[in-house]
Amino acid sequence: MIVDYHVHLERAGIAPGNAMRFIGRALSAGVGEIALTEHAYNFVELAPFLQRPDYVARHGHGFRLDDYMGMVRSLSRELEDRGVPIKVRLGLEVDYVPESLEELAAALAALDLDLVIGSVHWIGDWGIDLGPDTWEGRDRAQACRDYFRLAAEAAASGVFSIIGHPDLVKIYGFLSGDECREALYEGGRQLVEAARETGTCLEVSSAGLRRPVGEIYPGLELLRMAHAAGVRITTASDAHEPEECGLGLDQAVSWARRAGYEDVATFSERRLTVRPLGA
Ligand SMILES: [Zn+2]
Repeated sequence: MIVDYHVHLERAGIAPGNAMRFIGRALSAGVGEIALTEHAYNFVELAPFLQRPDYVARHGHGFRLDDYMGMVRSLSRELEDRGVPIKVRLGLEVDYVPESLEELAAALAALDLDLVIGSVHWIGDWGIDLGPDTWEGRDRAQACRDYFRLAAEAAASGVFSIIGHPDLVKIYGFLSGDECREALYEGGRQLVEAARETGTCLEVSSAGLRRPVGEIYPGLELLRMAHAAGVRITTASDAHEPEECGLGLDQAVSWARRAGYEDVATFSERRLTVRPLGA
């Protein structure tokens, strides 16, 4: 099965017609199961947990959870009734912010979701993927160590079904030095260990192919460690526009196979089911 488990409607808005533009693309890419995973900070109920009011003011969409959840559930039922060969799952992508983990976990547990992606985009007040210029003057190996400490914490919390783009910190291709490579390896090892202990999946994301690093998240070394540890994976495009939906999933599948994977995880009401990877 081809799975695209990380898709954002945000700029398009949460109307069913907009969701169908993404789903139509997914169908033509052969995707059999898709998860809509809107950013938590786009919802008025969850935005406070990000604790970055300036960012929310600039980038948040002010959606309401009821509108989103109702729309996705009814669209999912409608497609099933019409016999359209794709399953639509309901999810969220949530920034991992240690300070609000407890309240966030309680808020998420009260929602009837299929899955939750936990992602590290922030090291303290620094949004690591907000532009290469934000990296100027920073210690890159330290950034890498900080990133993976947070990612491993997120995995160890057991709050998330999946860790999104597990080595996002490589996004701008700045981690080629020896010290950074060592930090990538050691960080990856910690993340895999935490994911193994809690049964958290790692995401294999084609989004890295569209970024300066030009490589799938996570790197092959990390993914091989994950496979050896018995950690399960999902595959994802991280689409923010309909034309990105399903994009590069064939490469994500080959990447996962190179690491030894033959299965992909799917989620319904947070219960994991394993399917054969790829077409
Ligand atoms: Zn995303």
